[in-house]
Amino acid sequence: MELTYKKRNVYAEADDTELKRIFDYCEGYKKFLDGAKTEREAVTETVAMAEKAGYKPYTLGGKINKGDKLYYNNRGKSLFILRAGSADIAKNGVRILVAHIDSPRLDLKQVPLYEKAGAAYLKTHYYGGIKKYHWLTIPLALHGTVVLKDGRKITVGIGENDCDPVFYITDLLPHLSQDLNKKTIGEGFEAENLNILIGGIPQKGDEKNSVKNGVLKLLNEKYGMIEEDFLSAELQAVPAAKAKDVGIDRAFIAAYGHDDSVCAYPEITAALQTETEQTVLTILADKEEIGSEGNTGMQCVLIDDILNEIAKSYGVNPAVLRSNSMCISADVTAAYDPGFASAFEENNVGMVNCGVTMNKFTGARGKSGSNDASAEYIGYLRGVFDRYGVIWQTGELGRVDLGGGGTVAKYIAKNNIDTVDMGVPVLSMHAPYELVSKADVYSAYKAFCAFIK
Ligand code: MN
Ligand code: MN
Repeated sequence: MELTYKKRNVYAEADDTELKRIFDYCEGYKKFLDGAKTEREAVTETVAMAEKAGYKPYTLGGKINKGDKLYYNNRGKSLFILRAGSADIAKNGVRILVAHIDSPRLDLKQVPLYEKAGAAYLKTHYYGGIKKYHWLTIPLALHGTVVLKDGRKITVGIGENDCDPVFYITDLLPHLSQDLNKKTIGEGFEAENLNILIGGIPQKGDEKNSVKNGVLKLLNEKYGMIEEDFLSAELQAVPAAKAKDVGIDRAFIAAYGHDDSVCAYPEITAALQTETEQTVLTILADKEEIGSEGNTGMQCVLIDDILNEIAKSYGVNPAVLRSNSMCISADVTAAYDPGFASAFEENNVGMVNCGVTMNKFTGARGKSGSNDASAEYIGYLRGVFDRYGVIWQTGELGRVDLGGGGTVAKYIAKNNIDTVDMGVPVLSMHAPYELVSKADVYSAYKAFCAFIK
């Protein structure tokens, strides 16, 4: 009997067949990453995957029958995927998988366009936790939706095709950065300076604001919009880079939006592919990066409404259904980075290649704001993961009292549902180009499959 506990390395234990499975699986993940950089795009991509797997749209209030495969598209920004199982849901409850599909980025302001010193720029208001200097001098793409006064919706996308132009935020040259270098990073890089260069050719025969008018003319030709239409638009600047293998052995993937596509994609694929008698609800949430607020965030009562609809359709008391339900709140965690070793405590942090990472709790300053999963629930999950050969580990976001963070777990748990945080460890989390291990992505997929079986 092994008395000591040691983390296991997924790659070290993988034979050639398993290694091929890991790599093949991650090709699909990379495609998803490139097609789903915003919550709206993630919903569109996932609906297409769900429909291909035989899922049908659900309307609130509709009856749910055993065997139904349904999805509920909430305003194009969050998604509920339901597999109505044959198992007794009064006893087994619903297996819930949650991840979020919004990522940190630069949102355009509502009156974004202006001209200065011979160039046109877009004002931004950043979304989620970013290090502002990361966003200077990298290629940016514009994504989003413009809603015209007559209700027509225009989808904007510039910067992702190889022939597209990209957008850009300038930085000060090092030769002139003596004063800047003395400032703290917070003082040196201000949000109001995150202005995106969008054009530079003056409109002929026009003396004032001429570059700006040239930009407006092009936007009008391409999208039929006028400047006022920015008022009812959601436009986002995201890194224009595509997901790429990293390392000569291709062990890692660098991409924008691993947080939290790297949990969403394993959830989606597990939910769509796993044959099970359980009732499984997979939720892709919006607004996690800004506190899960609003009617597309996880604090919205919609989850309750949908659980009630399931209970009603099955003729089960909704309180009983909830009390027997279980949830994995799938969100990324910080991976140990030897370059910043002092930020972590080595025994209690997710290590790359050691599998999907369970955080019993999150929060800050003495677990504050955290869902602290019970020993009973974690003990149950240990048994499940063992049965299905899942290599996994535990972790914390970093050293105690250095900072912290939260997830949607507490908003699920407050419905009287056992919930635990689990996700892929990420290096450079919240950077424009984040890094994960392919082995950990596949481990997450295996864990979620085991959970819903
Ligand atoms: Mn996250
Ligand atoms: Mn995040």
